[in-house]
Amino acid sequence: MAQPQLPPMKNWRFELDFEGIGWLTIDTPKAPVNTLSREAIGELETLVLRFEDLFAEGVLQGVVLLSGKDSGFIAGADVSEFDAMSDLSVLPGALKRTHALFDRIENARFPYVACIHGFCLGGGLELALACHWRVAVNADSTRIGFPEVNLGIFPGFGGTGRSIRQAGPVDAMQAMLTAKMLKPGAARGMGLVDKLVRHRDSLRWEGRKAVLQKRKSGVAPWTKRVMAMGPLRDYVANKMKKEVAKKAQRAHYPAPYALIELFEKHGDDPKAMSAGEIDAFVPLLSSETATNLRRVFFLSEALKKQGLRGTEKPVFRRVHVIGAGVMGGDIAAWCALRGMGVTLQDLDMERIKPALDRAKSLFKKRLRKSVEVQSAIARLEADPQGKGLARADVVIEAVVENLEIKRKIFLDVEKQVRPNAIIATNTSSIELERIAEGLVNPSRLIGLHFFNPVAQLPLVEVIRSRFSTDLDIARGASFALAIGKSPVAVKSAPGSSSTGC
Ligand code: NAD
Repeated sequence: MAQPQLPPMKNWRFELDFEGIGWLTIDTPKAPVNTLSREAIGELETLVLRFEDLFAEGVLQGVVLLSGKDSGFIAGADVSEFDAMSDLSVLPGALKRTHALFDRIENARFPYVACIHGFCLGGGLELALACHWRVAVNADSTRIGFPEVNLGIFPGFGGTGRSIRQAGPVDAMQAMLTAKMLKPGAARGMGLVDKLVRHRDSLRWEGRKAVLQKRKSGVAPWTKRVMAMGPLRDYVANKMKKEVAKKAQRAHYPAPYALIELFEKHGDDPKAMSAGEIDAFVPLLSSETATNLRRVFFLSEALKKQGLRGTEKPVFRRVHVIGAGVMGGDIAAWCALRGMGVTLQDLDMERIKPALDRAKSLFKKRLRKSVEVQSAIARLEADPQGKGLARADVVIEAVVENLEIKRKIFLDVEKQVRPNAIIATNTSSIELERIAEGLVNPSRLIGLHFFNPVAQLPLVEVIRSRFSTDLDIARGASFALAIGKSPVAVKSAPGSSSTGC
């Protein structure tokens, strides 16, 4: 098949097949995930104009948009460009250009189909919503959502109006206000996605079918849209404001309030809502809140890179926690919540029971579905005899802050654990070297210092003693990541500062 002439592109690959289907693949250079950088958007502008010519010439029937990365579709706009974009002389123009581009895709006389696997977030979802049909892989790794409020902004590429058009005002506003990463079933149920397939391999087939059959997704049903009409809109907006006020003050987090105000003005008119984004978005991006939230974002991204990757990445299935007090009980509950099998040891059953009760409340609050709560309860086992020690991948000690007791415990732990298991203490103030005294291999002991309350605080300090190797610390960081925490490496000295891994 003769391929059309296109200018050189860094972020996109294009191939036209014998049926006239254009396969457009996004593959952000030198990056693990795709992002919509200004360069990618500029290249897409050129492509979209060229597609219109190809359609007019009768060689193109439609475009299927895919990702070339295993990590997913598109993770959003390129946050690293946001500081430069905050310049008020640049931002409105850039937003208007992207709006015009996405409108052009939406108004094309031929179909655009978005094929989604993995992350489809923020600007990536906004681009998908500008397409005529969306297919997603029904897998746990697929996540669809608008994380913008976490960065102090809201969707700015027309996603506010388009999500309301597809999902109805209540579901769409909730998705934008809560920044929830939706599972594919939920996104399909809401109308953000039109079709689910079982495997990534099926995406091309479904994309092809959607182009050939010129599929076009319908708008949200009347029963949903009515919630943005007349006085019902004020009612919905007031309810949302009350919910937001419970979690965030306007002075510190203006974005959700600005989004609700935009909804109050234009909630019944998706096109006007999208157009209204630009004026409200500009002051948000340059606000102090957004600047600070971007710093937090970059910091947590850097923290995530500390674990081991690829074939070196350890697998953690079983955790044994010694000490079922405030910290040990909550660490055990958190690990069970995140899918680990956990044994929890203390001097007797009476001391373990309160921790199990607290864990149940946490599971009910976080997991909701009864079957998931029951599985988490089953994953957390009281173990006064310490039987779980010998089969654990990770042992965490969180008994009273007493050097002699801790030393004695680790002498016994070292004798029983598997050769590869991580051995860690949650001590706040005792130097690791002192606890490790007497161990055959003192380098095995690291600190995994959780903060109270464990379920709320995302950081875990991975503490290095003078015996520790980089590998020990990286394995500790990998474990913290495996339970959804952000590891930060520190030296073993109370109050010492982060050293990085
Ligand atoms: P805690 O007093 O609430 O619990 C300690 C538990 O250890 C008790 O249930 C006790 O019965 C048990 N225990 C004592 N000897 C034991 C043994 N030989 N075998 C098994 N269990 C034994 O204490 P905590 O506040 O949970 O603190 C535990 C550790 O975590 C300490 O090292 C502390 O420095 C550290 N820490 C505490 C906090 C905090 O805010 N409480 C924060 C970070 C780290």
